Amino acid sequence: MTFADLWRELEPLGRDPQTGGYRRYSWTQADAQCRAWFTAQAQRRGLTVETDRNGNLWAWWGQKRTGAIATGSHLDSVPDGGGFDGALGVVSTLAAVDLLKEKNFHPERAVVLAVFTEEEGGRFGVPCLGSRLMTGVMDPERARTLSDNNGVTLAEAMAAAGLDPDKIGPDDQRLSGLAAFVELHVEQGRALAPLGGPVGIARSIWPHDRWRLEFTGRPDHAGTTRLADRHDPMLPYASTVLAARQAAAASKSLATFGKVIALPGGTNGISSSVTAWLDARAPDEATLAATIATIRSAAEKSSAEHNVALIVSQESHTPLVYFDLALTNRLAVTLANPALGLTPQPSPAKPASALAPQPPAANPAQPRPTAGSGRYVSPPPAPPVPALPTGAGHDAGFLAARIPAAMLFVRNPTGVSHSPAEHADLADCEAGVRALAAVLEDLAGKP
Ligand SMILES: [Zn+2]
Repeated sequence: MTFADLWRELEPLGRDPQTGGYRRYSWTQADAQCRAWFTAQAQRRGLTVETDRNGNLWAWWGQKRTGAIATGSHLDSVPDGGGFDGALGVVSTLAAVDLLKEKNFHPERAVVLAVFTEEEGGRFGVPCLGSRLMTGVMDPERARTLSDNNGVTLAEAMAAAGLDPDKIGPDDQRLSGLAAFVELHVEQGRALAPLGGPVGIARSIWPHDRWRLEFTGRPDHAGTTRLADRHDPMLPYASTVLAARQAAAASKSLATFGKVIALPGGTNGISSSVTAWLDARAPDEATLAATIATIRSAAEKSSAEHNVALIVSQESHTPLVYFDLALTNRLAVTLANPALGLTPQPSPAKPASALAPQPPAANPAQPRPTAGSGRYVSPPPAPPVPALPTGAGHDAGFLAARIPAAMLFVRNPTGVSHSPAEHADLADCEAGVRALAAVLEDLAGKP
């Protein structure tokens, strides 16, 4: 099957008809549909699919044994997320298997396709939950009690889906069977577009924090309570949002309040409480800690000024990740093969008229005569596939702490992500499949 065929099948699953965004929350019906689709596709290719103790899916190509090369991503989404985040990586694994089978490639090492659970934290609040649990970073006891907006716990949701929540936790045996993990993902930013290449290699992932801030004031009448008498939690919340923006700009970091709940939620009343979630990321740990400290002290100061109580608690911390240097370098060598068509084209050709005669394509591998010199000079070497840092967290980041891991990014022309407007061109997705197939061929082709 081509990438486009696979894409067409997955595209409608979990999509909200009003917003056009995806609501593929873990352990919901949409999630079950996506899992069933992946399982059926893997089985059609003769792969053996299993669900691990943490609810992650693994589809084995070749006999299950140690030294396997794993690749994959996730199928869950943020609220009204785009279609590419996660799904691109999963669809690309299937398309890469097809490409390799067409070439009659037989893996010497088993290739295993992975789909991780709750990567976005869209339902239970902790991102990369499946890989956190697997690598032992997340306490299973705490994970079981995480609850969604309706008060359903992870344990209840997993049990309803037919899994045993008592079994979640570290999975050293599975990890020790993997020689490497490579995740392909849509780029969540716009670094590749100006560089002219369809595919990049991740160098690192910024450290990432999630904090909950609860501002508690006093509910009162919006029409009768004098301004001076109010204990309005909305005010310190508002100034904290502005302080976060300022602190992030000053430290070249990122800080976002994307979720807020004001109670009781009446138009004509002063709120009793405002609970808000801060997402903060920075190039290094010290900058992240300093940015959070600045935001916290602004929140405390403003809360005191407005007679509002404040509780600040950390929901998650994801440390700085550098991907495995040897593996990343090996990917760079593999992807530099000009036959793959992945090396950047710095000056994109102007769109030519379909009717205009096209000049013959120059072959950059051949030496060319320089005008008038009469001598042949070698052309400059093709620029390598770009290596990029990213502010977005990924399962590959958690696996990187335990096994050699690396990531490939597929160009996102606008950089928009976590939105229905997220996009990647079909030609770039196909380039991503070629890249992933080449990487798997290299890594799994030798015993
Ligand atoms: Zn993702």
